[in-house]
Amino acid sequence: MASVLVFTEFADGKFKKGALELLSAARKSGLKVQALALGSGAKALPFGAEGVDEVFVADNAQFDKYNPELFSATVSALLAAQKPSVVLASSSALARDMFPRVAAHMGVGVASDCTTLEISSDGNVTARRPMYAGKCTAEVSFENSPTKIVLMRANQLPVVAATGAKTPSVTDVAAPATDLHTIIKDVVKGTSGKLDLTEANIIVAGGRGMKDAASFKLLEDLADVLGATVGASRAVVDAGWVPHTMQVGQTGKTVAPTLYIAAGVSGAIQHLAGMSGSKVIVAINKDANAPIFQKATYGIVGDVFEILPKLTEEFKKLVHH
Ligand SMILES: Cc1cc2nc3c(=O)[nH]c(=O)nc-3n(C[C@H](O)[C@H](O)[C@H](O)COP(=O)(O)OP(=O)(O)OC[C@H]3O[C@@H](n4cnc5c(N)ncnc54)[C@H](O)[C@@H]3O)c2cc1C
Repeated sequence: MASVLVFTEFADGKFKKGALELLSAARKSGLKVQALALGSGAKALPFGAEGVDEVFVADNAQFDKYNPELFSATVSALLAAQKPSVVLASSSALARDMFPRVAAHMGVGVASDCTTLEISSDGNVTARRPMYAGKCTAEVSFENSPTKIVLMRANQLPVVAATGAKTPSVTDVAAPATDLHTIIKDVVKGTSGKLDLTEANIIVAGGRGMKDAASFKLLEDLADVLGATVGASRAVVDAGWVPHTMQVGQTGKTVAPTLYIAAGVSGAIQHLAGMSGSKVIVAINKDANAPIFQKATYGIVGDVFEILPKLTEEFKKLVHH
């Protein structure tokens, strides 16, 4: 029977939101749902409640730090044995690094950064992905690829609660005996303590209109009230006000939050390429003709130094109510 295998990323004993989106899509296909999770705590994840039929886990500290060689060898071996029709993963940094290696190893196709997904009853896939900085989208299908690997952008598929739990079979996955050329000794995490931009549900982004690095405090204050992550345009990153990890756009991160607040960002095509998939866009700019207003759901023509503190105050009142 055709099957859909979901690569489920998780943290703190819970599936990440992207994994829940993919599991919903896998169930909707009506095909057998398989799931793969790597790392300590994988076995305790609520696969049954998510309607998974068959689970593969490496509940093992060896997989707690991403090692491209180890992960791609393990996943390639599992996929070669299981031969799922479709593999779904989020377009996370890990998956975007690992799955092209897996696809090359297996001689199958991979479509990354997809925004729409259709899985037919015989296990074929049609997906759409933006091209040329979001100016157009390409429809992607697979040929001569018994396994089709699709990496989906976050927040593009609905999370639908499973109807009825299952009791999946659970198989332990071991790393194949390969000589690793690299060892990951340590992973230094960002210090912000906030969700990564690509996973954030709300983003408050600043552009050159913020004037200097110190003014980003206004964005952080608003982000703290909203539970948001702060992002930035490239102009700001190039000026050295914030690190590149905060850059949204063609040469930064692609994000699709529920709410994107752009403050002092002009809306250059390369910035829009990274955030135009956001559900609601609020733009604050003192130039009424700034291109960002053409993409914005709501526009505020005004000075960020006046508007941002007011928004923070008003949201504070709402949140504390
Ligand atoms: C190959 C390539 C890749 C690129 N990749 C990226 C990318 O990944 N991400 C990205 O962002 N850019 C990218 N760029 C750069 C992009 O073209 C723009 O230069 C950049 O996005 C501009 O950043 P900005 O909007 O912050 O600055 P600006 O374009 O200078 O805009 C600043 C805005 O702030 C407004 N403003 C000023 N003062 C205030 C105030 N007090 N209150 C309110 N509004 C105010 C102004 O009206 C203006 O609209 C790329 C460019 C190239 C060529």
